[in-house]
Amino acid sequence: MPDVNTYFPDPTRPRPVLPGEYPLWEEALGLVNRDLAATLPDQEPLRLMALPAWDDGDGLDGARGEDLYVTMANGEWQGNCLEADAENGHADAVASLADAVASVADAAQETVSELLWQAWPVCGEHGLGMHSRVTDGEVAWWCSGGRSPREPEHIRAAVGALDTLGRPHRPNRKQRRRER
Ligand SMILES: [Zn+2]
Repeated sequence: MPDVNTYFPDPTRPRPVLPGEYPLWEEALGLVNRDLAATLPDQEPLRLMALPAWDDGDGLDGARGEDLYVTMANGEWQGNCLEADAENGHADAVASLADAVASVADAAQETVSELLWQAWPVCGEHGLGMHSRVTDGEVAWWCSGGRSPREPEHIRAAVGALDTLGRPHRPNRKQRRRER
């Protein structure tokens, strides 16, 4: 006789999202995981986990009735579930990759910084924790800058592109430094 849990999976336990279930969210997480690998190479990639949505009666709980969370490799997370945008809450309703990236970046930041007890991601120039910001339809990591007026707030890199900055093992970059 099949286990009762086959019919009634534990609704309090998150399940891993399978490849292809939430393509935009998965693509967004792929970008954020590139930044994680570039900045905290010892960390395993973050994961998307799903839990049955709380029915708050707003009719926006989506076809699958699930909330998505960005978790560490071990399934732990901090903070709220992913939201498509400010007005249309549920993850099923995400309209664009930029919306998904903005939401995943914030959720990943909360999970990583709270569970590892450190600011993440950190600006390589100023040593400050950065925040995601949407500019020209692209989501980027924004830094508030240094104390000097000559170091104003700035966009560090697009989300997913932190690995293009200051990587010492890039031969062409080393070459340029030596020539200076
Ligand atoms: Zn900075």
